[in-house]
Amino acid sequence: MSELTIKNLHVNIDEKPILNGVNLVVPQGEVHAIMGPNGTGKSTLANTLLGYPSYTVTQGEVFFKGANLLDLSTDERSRMGLFLAFQYPVSIPGVTVANFLRTALNARRKQENPDEKGIPIPEFRKLLKSKMDELKIDSSFAGRYLNEGFSGGEKKRVEVLQMAVLEPEIAILDEIDSGLDIDALRIVADGVNLLREKQNLGVLVITHYQRLLNYIKPDVVHVMMDGKIVESGGPELAVHLEEHGYEWVREKVEEESF
Ligand code: ADP
Ligand code: MG
Repeated sequence: MSELTIKNLHVNIDEKPILNGVNLVVPQGEVHAIMGPNGTGKSTLANTLLGYPSYTVTQGEVFFKGANLLDLSTDERSRMGLFLAFQYPVSIPGVTVANFLRTALNARRKQENPDEKGIPIPEFRKLLKSKMDELKIDSSFAGRYLNEGFSGGEKKRVEVLQMAVLEPEIAILDEIDSGLDIDALRIVADGVNLLREKQNLGVLVITHYQRLLNYIKPDVVHVMMDGKIVESGGPELAVHLEEHGYEWVREKVEEESF
């Protein structure tokens, strides 16, 4: 079973320290939530895991399947089974959803097995159909051009379908609730919950608000402050934060370090 292990991660943006020693383990099959005030480094963590170039790792490691993730390109990370949800998915005119997914699946399979010849089209059609049925996605969807003219909810459906087809071990979802209406939020949450059940998906879900966690139920909730995880607990921690804000966590941390 795979897990994502983050060890003492320090990250700078333009020489300025943003992450100051993050430690975190996300095993397959578990949902871990990171909550925290704005500007505390949550997206910096997500983007570093995604491999965005503008983030400089000054210390620490991220292990996944025996590799140090930080040595790999974004592409390699995703082929290895890390799913990275983009806040603004690209549209690709002329490329259908089905073709896009088949290409991505072949790349992923080739990563696991260099002799992989690629999935035959009829077999892929069957696979795609069964995944779409499971997720209750209309079959006409497969023939549409990727994200072209898609509503926010439809773009999210493609993302969930991509997760279902590629079967990643770990998914990282950063603020997926921002700009989504409640229906779209349910689509993502239902999809993520189903994949967790069926594919043992592990999820790192990052959110400022507790609301999302009513739909994607976390096993563990972490609080990030000033670029560090300062508190971890069960789902009740998210509810407590929603009611009492973050100030008490800061006070507790200051007391402890005193
Ligand atoms: P969060 O997601 O928790 O709201 P971020 O990780 O986005 O926080 O930001 C953490 C800090 O890093 C903030 O002070 C923010 O201003 C700074 N920061 C984030 N991205 C950049 C960037 N591209 N250039 C400069 N500063 C940045
Ligand atoms: Mg953010």
